[in-house]
Amino acid sequence: MSAFAQETLVGDFSDLKSPLSEEEALVQADLCLQCGGVYATAPCTVACPADVDVPTFIAQIAAGDPGAAALTLFEQNILAASCARVCPVEVLCQASCVMNSQDEAAIEIGRLQRFAADWAYANGVAPRKKAAANGHKVAVIGAGPAGLACAGELAARGYTVTVYDERAEVGGLIRYAIAPFRQHTEPLPAEAVALAGLGVEIKLEAKIDSKKALAEIEKEVEAIFLGIGYGEDVLVKTPGDDLEGVWESLPFIEALKDGNPPQVGRRAAVIGGGNTAMDVAREALRLGAEEVTVLYRRTQAEMPAFYHEYEEALEEGVVFKWLTLPVAFKGENGRLTAVECQPMKLGEPDDSGRRRPEPIEGADFDLPVDTIVKAIGQRPREEFLSLIDGLELEWGRIKINPETGQTTNPKYFAAGDAINGGATAVQAVGGAKVAVAGIEAFVQGEKR
Ligand SMILES: Cc1cc2nc3c(=O)[nH]c(=O)nc-3n(C[C@H](O)[C@H](O)[C@H](O)COP(=O)(O)OP(=O)(O)OC[C@H]3O[C@@H](n4cnc5c(N)ncnc54)[C@H](O)[C@@H]3O)c2cc1C
Repeated sequence: MSAFAQETLVGDFSDLKSPLSEEEALVQADLCLQCGGVYATAPCTVACPADVDVPTFIAQIAAGDPGAAALTLFEQNILAASCARVCPVEVLCQASCVMNSQDEAAIEIGRLQRFAADWAYANGVAPRKKAAANGHKVAVIGAGPAGLACAGELAARGYTVTVYDERAEVGGLIRYAIAPFRQHTEPLPAEAVALAGLGVEIKLEAKIDSKKALAEIEKEVEAIFLGIGYGEDVLVKTPGDDLEGVWESLPFIEALKDGNPPQVGRRAAVIGGGNTAMDVAREALRLGAEEVTVLYRRTQAEMPAFYHEYEEALEEGVVFKWLTLPVAFKGENGRLTAVECQPMKLGEPDDSGRRRPEPIEGADFDLPVDTIVKAIGQRPREEFLSLIDGLELEWGRIKINPETGQTTNPKYFAAGDAINGGATAVQAVGGAKVAVAGIEAFVQGEKR
């Protein structure tokens, strides 16, 4: 365990990427080479799933006009303020910044985006103007980034939009799952107010869970957008699941974000090798665990987590045990005390192309732990999706026409985690924009 983690992290859930001051933003914006132009789009814009015109908004900041910069951002991404906080810029816009090829640090596009978008909200700039009502009605199920982006874009184009979400607050996984050191809740409330300003009606604590409820919505509107994301953690039953101290990742993070931080004890372990596992490990350190171990049944080379997330977790003191499969949780008096681990070796590649982990028999060992969090992935909302006539799924994901976002039931469109199985907020926004164009063509076409 590094001294760094123990001494500086406990209780510190502050932003990993702090906001830029006005002066810092100007200096940073001035460094931008303003790539792109008539003949080629700038690589940072190409890398942005929401098609944000990065050079233009940065030039507007450099010219001392953050309000104009914000409007450039909002034109392409109405959730620019949230995305500025949560986007993995290290693998998107900033990864393609030409400064990298000159051995210079990439322009801090994410922090500049946050500067401009936050400036707009602080100064009462409305993100988008509303077109005159066009008489068309669309429903959106899910108020995560996909649903909110779809609703905002449609409303700005004059559609009457109602959003339904089962939760008490908007934002989907941004609100309930994304690590608090990236985004806690702010600026989601301001983004919801901006949508309301465009006329979007958001019905919260409104779970759509029956054919009857869907039929009522279908009667009211011309198209329905599904931004329902994925559901609960994947079910992996393990002996000892009922012991106190055994968690699934989403309830663990939600408790933390809701102000009921889990008591992790001295030693915590996290199962999984994805970005959620990296987040949970770093959250456990901040909750006071002195030893945090990630248990992954393959090796670092097969880990799906972004490499920079792995590196940052390592730097904070997270320990990684590769080729280790937890097989049972052990406890005393109903409380977790250890996880029994099965060492693995890599065999032939499986369907995913990754080498299949195989057990090394007779080598099991116990790792003492007070808390264990399963961070293995989420499962699709197949029960809900089975209520929609003619809706085809592929591996639990809604099948769409990628050009239009239209599903195999022509009245339904979809984007976000529900179609890609779990990616990023900005990909949900980008997909929602494709679906908006698809909905527009469908609805206007029907009218003719
Ligand atoms: C732990 C974790 C950390 C992550 N960290 C990041 C990160 O740092 N950066 C990043 O970009 N992405 C991150 N992601 C991924 C990102 O959060 C998702 O890709 C994104 O939220 C998907 O948006 P969505 O709108 O498709 O779905 P969601 O955000 O899941 O929203 C779906 C919404 O639909 C609602 N809903 C579902 N079914 C119904 C129904 N029947 N009736 C009414 N409402 C319903 C849900 O309540 C929810 O609010 C993370 C994900 C996880 C799990």
